[in-house]
Amino acid sequence: MPAKPVNKQVPSKGGIFSKFKGNIEAIAIGVKFFFNPQRFTLIYPKEYIKLKEGYRGFIVLRKDKCINCGSCARICPAAAMRLIRLPFTDPKTGKTRMKLWPVINYNRCIFCGYCVDVCPTEALYHVPYHDVVYETMDIMDLDLEMFQKEPEWDTEKLGLPVKYVVDEKMGLIKVKIKEEGEKQ
Ligand code: SF4
Ligand code: SF4
Repeated sequence: MPAKPVNKQVPSKGGIFSKFKGNIEAIAIGVKFFFNPQRFTLIYPKEYIKLKEGYRGFIVLRKDKCINCGSCARICPAAAMRLIRLPFTDPKTGKTRMKLWPVINYNRCIFCGYCVDVCPTEALYHVPYHDVVYETMDIMDLDLEMFQKEPEWDTEKLGLPVKYVVDEKMGLIKVKIKEEGEKQ
């Protein structure tokens, strides 16, 4: 049987406006948010986004919970977590023996959180921030003492926490958390 002819729709050429419609809309949105005090550009570090608990930020070791199993170092896909051998004195028996402790190198870490997830004793946890400044790359390779401290977070001292919410008219808008009287 011969194939039936198909009526193809030819796209209309439209006027000059249709050619630049996308550009004009983009400019209009830019102008709208430029003059709006609630525009969503983050004025960092005067403002910062308050991240939720559970965010995969920097990682801290609770040494007293660590059972030296090494799972965190074994699972790390970036070779950022490694084990170092250090003497440990058992407070109950007073005996000293060598143990393997995890330390982290933030030059390599990709913040995947596998090490925290795999730890059987919850000896590792994330802090809910990721904008920490180290002055040199050397000090990003933490020793056991540093790994037990939450990194200093200057942004919290400098800025106001904000969050983004969806507004029916404006779309995405930025809201200062303190002004709302929300719990920090
Ligand atoms: S967060 Fe991921 S990359 Fe970083 S130390 Fe843990 S397992 Fe390794
Ligand atoms: S997985 Fe947890 S308990 Fe095991 S060595 Fe790492 S931090 Fe310690």
